[in-house]
Amino acid sequence: MIKVGVNGYGTIGKRVADAVAMQKDMKLIGVTAHSYSFNTEVAKEKGYKIFAADGDNDLKPNGITPDGDMGNLLEEVDVIVDATPKKVGKENLDKFYRPKKVKAVFQGGEKHEITGTSFVAQCNYNEAINKNYVRIVSCNTTGLCRTLDAVNKKYGIGSVHATMIRRGADPWDIYHGPINAIVPVLEMPSHHGPDVQTVLHNVEIFTTALSVPSTLMHLHTLTVDLKKKANLNDVIEMFKKSTRIRVVRNAEHLRSTAEIMEFARDLGRLRGDMPEICVWQEAIGITSNAHNKLLYMQAVHQESDVIPENIDCIRAMMGFKDGEKSIRMTNEGFGIK
Ligand code: NAD
Repeated sequence: MIKVGVNGYGTIGKRVADAVAMQKDMKLIGVTAHSYSFNTEVAKEKGYKIFAADGDNDLKPNGITPDGDMGNLLEEVDVIVDATPKKVGKENLDKFYRPKKVKAVFQGGEKHEITGTSFVAQCNYNEAINKNYVRIVSCNTTGLCRTLDAVNKKYGIGSVHATMIRRGADPWDIYHGPINAIVPVLEMPSHHGPDVQTVLHNVEIFTTALSVPSTLMHLHTLTVDLKKKANLNDVIEMFKKSTRIRVVRNAEHLRSTAEIMEFARDLGRLRGDMPEICVWQEAIGITSNAHNKLLYMQAVHQESDVIPENIDCIRAMMGFKDGEKSIRMTNEGFGIK
């Protein structure tokens, strides 16, 4: 059994904790609480051990007696998943994980340089095997890597341009926006393109991004110059056969991010999550002149697509060598076909 702790029990951390608890080869030792909230109450109701995180801590005044502190948690685990807000992970690496010699998984808010290894299971599982520190790329980068890796393996990619239309905030988040504007990212390229190259090292990609007043998923539009000619049916089949990608159709009335989220709820997924990247079948196109320019659109559920990646990454870091088997084991728990 791989013993895992989760530091940072928010949007990503609480999902990782539940996913770890679901694995037959892993044991969730506990989660941290930094400041008391309903999340802490949920962790308590689920029977998770709660450790006091570094910094401000108001657990005791709110009736929660912690099971220990960060030091106690780190003594018990093989791997810690750090899902604290961006830049806190780097501080934790130097302050806790390195001195305690505990393996650590970081999230996309941290820079690639802090680990030197960035991860998307179906693209570069082997790079994480036996590593001490690995970073899961962001939700957007995970979405780009999954579908571009499939395209690259089948057709070869000359170059890519992708635009990310990003949700303004997570659904629970009352602090971020916009609520009435479209906000372009005023840097060229946006950080996503270079981030994709930390996983798909040889793919030439240029990205642009903007934020919109929505909390339901990101939407990407991609234009890919292929090295080999493609036909539409083969591209659709390729996406259907690729793991953690779901082809959705206007014909089934899944024509928006809102309907995809409702679909995920109706499937009975935990929290109504959709960890697969959803590619719209009717929005896949190939230029008719040379058949080597592919266009498609995809939706990314920002709160959940990186969760299976965390699970596979833990296995790889603990020396489990069969990436495909790990992906299958993880998918089973999530109900991903
Ligand atoms: P969040 O704000 O929802 O959760 C962060 C949690 O960490 C909170 O519970 C907070 O109380 C806790 N925390 C704060 N400081 C702490 C400390 N010093 N020690 C321990 N816990 C502390 O954030 P999130 O959205 O879950 O993001 C976490 C990481 O995941 C970031 O790197 C982010 O970029 C990345 N990420 C977020 C999303 C998303 O859409 N939310 C998607 C992919 C990756």
